[in-house]
Amino acid sequence: MSALDQVKEAQAANGYSNKTGDKVYTLDECAKLSKEEVKEQFDIATQIKIAKALREGEEVTKATNKKKASIKKAQIAARKAKASSKTTQVKERVKRVKKIVDPAPEKKSAQSSSSSSNCRVCGKPLSRETSVISGIGDICANKIGVSAGMPESDVDTLLEKHQKKVEKRIASLTLDSLTDKYISFEKAWKAVKKTKVSRYAFMVACGGNGAAREPLNKHFQIYFYKGKRYLPASVLKHATDVKAAQR
Ligand SMILES: [Zn+2]
Repeated sequence: MSALDQVKEAQAANGYSNKTGDKVYTLDECAKLSKEEVKEQFDIATQIKIAKALREGEEVTKATNKKKASIKKAQIAARKAKASSKTTQVKERVKRVKKIVDPAPEKKSAQSSSSSSNCRVCGKPLSRETSVISGIGDICANKIGVSAGMPESDVDTLLEKHQKKVEKRIASLTLDSLTDKYISFEKAWKAVKKTKVSRYAFMVACGGNGAAREPLNKHFQIYFYKGKRYLPASVLKHATDVKAAQR
């Protein structure tokens, strides 16, 4: 075999030599040729080889596409699952905030202990099993004097007492008239929001839960007027207090 023939053979191993032996086609190049061109260029044996290789190539492509499609499907499913879990999280959060913002906390405390796994004092969701059983979170239990193993009737008495205290507190925060010393709760929130704190943090600063707790400072004290909440106008100058308190 001549050197030229050896080169041609080596080339043929990587492609398909035409009848005259002056050109070697890669499979890709073969795929681009028309049926007539293939017949014209190659002998029968090579034509068969090319057809077979193209068929195999198609199958590989098909299999790859199928695999790609299944990967894509899985990705879409995963994305959907993530989105739905995010939606659930957001829904839960909205629920929680609604509970905290609810301006009628007295109704919440009047709910029976079996109705939900939220604290009967502050309305926050309970996580610890012992808390879920009693219906009061540890912090709130401490605050109103509930201890472990206390009879349910005693717990109810303490809850009632706490409720009266809250009502009294709210009554003391009710305005007889609205002056320009006060601004609406939402207007205050708009100012505080600009300092990049969460609504939740703002609510906590305001004593949460219909102002049942002590506020962060006097500028965050909620007052009630005709069923709506107001804050001292001075809160506008203290919008950054919430952020500062977080540090
Ligand atoms: Zn609580």
